[in-house]
Amino acid sequence: MSYEGREVFLCEDGHIMLVDASVIDTQGLRFRLRCPAVVHSTRKCGKEWKWQYSIDDTNALGQLPELTIVERENIHKCRCGNTHLIESTKYAPADLLNAEKNGWRERGSKNGK
Ligand SMILES: [Zn+2]
Ligand SMILES: [Zn+2]
Repeated sequence: MSYEGREVFLCEDGHIMLVDASVIDTQGLRFRLRCPAVVHSTRKCGKEWKWQYSIDDTNALGQLPELTIVERENIHKCRCGNTHLIESTKYAPADLLNAEKNGWRERGSKNGK
């Protein structure tokens, strides 16, 4: 049996992305794809991934890591009758000081912020 799992990514701004681990293996996705979250209504965030967390789904569905919501999404109810996503929700590891102990891996650490 091969490994089954998902990878959780948080970008530098805290947007979340969940990806099947096999996709990462075959396409090297974690190195290429930048954050696709919606920002400022029409743009894509485009930031690098700052945090990574592996969920092991080999035996059962593994658990998502605990997250803190830093900023809730902003959804605009428009006169056109549709709702538009203006800003995507931003997250952080729940216990930021102990993030690495709790299984988060900080990626490509740049100095400070
Ligand atoms: Zn982002
Ligand atoms: Zn509209």
